[in-house]
Amino acid sequence: MRITKRVFHDLAIWMVCFGLSIGVVFPFFVTGLGVPSEIAFTRVFFAACLSAGAIAGIINFVLARWIVGDRICLLASGMRRVENKLKQMAAADGDVSGCTPEECAIVVDSEDEIGDSARAFNHLVGTLAFAMETEQAFRAFTKMLSSNLDLKTLSENALKMFLEHSGATGGAVLYESEGELKVAASLGVRAPEELLTNNHILAAVKSGESSTISIPEGILLEGVLASFTPKEVCILPANYKSVPLGIVVLGTSTSFSPEHLTRMELFRNGLGLALNNVFTHDSLKRLAALDPLTGAYNRRFGLGRLQEEFSRAVRASSPLGVMMLDLDHFKSVNDTYGHMVGDRVLKSVVGCVRSILREGDILLRYGGEEFMAIFPAASSADLRDMGERIRRRVEETSLLVGDQTISVTVSLGGASFPDNNFDSVEKLVELSDKALYRAKENGRNRTEVAVG
Ligand code: GH3
Ligand code: MG
Ligand code: MG
Repeated sequence: MRITKRVFHDLAIWMVCFGLSIGVVFPFFVTGLGVPSEIAFTRVFFAACLSAGAIAGIINFVLARWIVGDRICLLASGMRRVENKLKQMAAADGDVSGCTPEECAIVVDSEDEIGDSARAFNHLVGTLAFAMETEQAFRAFTKMLSSNLDLKTLSENALKMFLEHSGATGGAVLYESEGELKVAASLGVRAPEELLTNNHILAAVKSGESSTISIPEGILLEGVLASFTPKEVCILPANYKSVPLGIVVLGTSTSFSPEHLTRMELFRNGLGLALNNVFTHDSLKRLAALDPLTGAYNRRFGLGRLQEEFSRAVRASSPLGVMMLDLDHFKSVNDTYGHMVGDRVLKSVVGCVRSILREGDILLRYGGEEFMAIFPAASSADLRDMGERIRRRVEETSLLVGDQTISVTVSLGGASFPDNNFDSVEKLVELSDKALYRAKENGRNRTEVAVG
């Protein structure tokens, strides 16, 4: 049925016509009840019946319009209010505070069709408010994602927003690196590292599909007084092109509503894209900093790091050691075995140096087959010790090429700040270069350290 603007008009005509018809049949009706026809069939009585019928029709119409119309007006004004709020919200950058069911819902006082319409309207307001809240939350979420390229900060901020907008009590963000799951952020989860071996989570990584577990084993949330097993756990793989780059695990002491789960699906898609950006950015950064053949820092990036370390050493008055390393008679390795084998020898030497370096030490390819190792906090004596250990490791290592074994040696020259009297990083490099030259001069396969 179509509602037209003539609804009340039609109703008025029907009611007055009905009143008039009652007026017409009333004289016959009363004669049936025993009223003499001389009275019932007089013009005056007939006119009175018609007037009474018409008046009853008009009163009926007025009452109907007053009772029903008022309620419909209430519904219409509720709708207009919601419409105005939506317009304001669109102008005020998605502020949904004015369109909550508490503010816009109509008080339902009837059980009939009008009451049903009002209830449907209230339900619509609730759904609309939730959808607007989701839209606003997702806008804030993507804004946060796009302004973060650091994995840890991104994961921590994302997790906070996941918890805030899902009704979860605690959760964690895991990510995959070199085939291994790791924890990027966790909030309110006891022993988050246990999540890394949880079967449900591993299955989600494999399938790339979200899942909700009602009886989660091995997952505990931190309560106010004690840890507790959540009633429901939701596992959301954050995929990029169907490859899970991260996993969001959310636990709740109640249960997740279907609306919240739909919202979390939106969030997880956004997170997948952001994680891909983070990983791409990281690998580009690494590519820009590394020498492609050996994986050591390239000269430009490595010398930048040296400058930083030198400034730090000056500020903190702590030592800084620099060691130059050059392969001995490397030209003849190339000449004898070819450049490809020469490249493998270079990689093998870098492997030897790496095995001696400690965390915080820096290795860069200075040029050709010449490398520089930077040792924060190393004195001249430490440098000599490190240089000798590297020299011996290279000397003892041989490379198998076909049926031949190739062994090479290296010469090393080092200088340390502040053991030597200088105040610039250039001087430090120059002194270690001179020490390397002395090592070559003095017969190669040896370590020389500048003495201040
Ligand atoms: P020395 O003991 O005096 O250092 O003798 P050397 O033969 O090692 O002399 P030098 O240090 O001048 O050697 C440079 C050689 O290193 C020449 C070049 O062919 C080789 N080289 C430089 N870069 C590469 C590279 O990336 N791959 C290969 N295979 N060889 C390289
Ligand atoms: Mg050389
Ligand atoms: Mg050289």
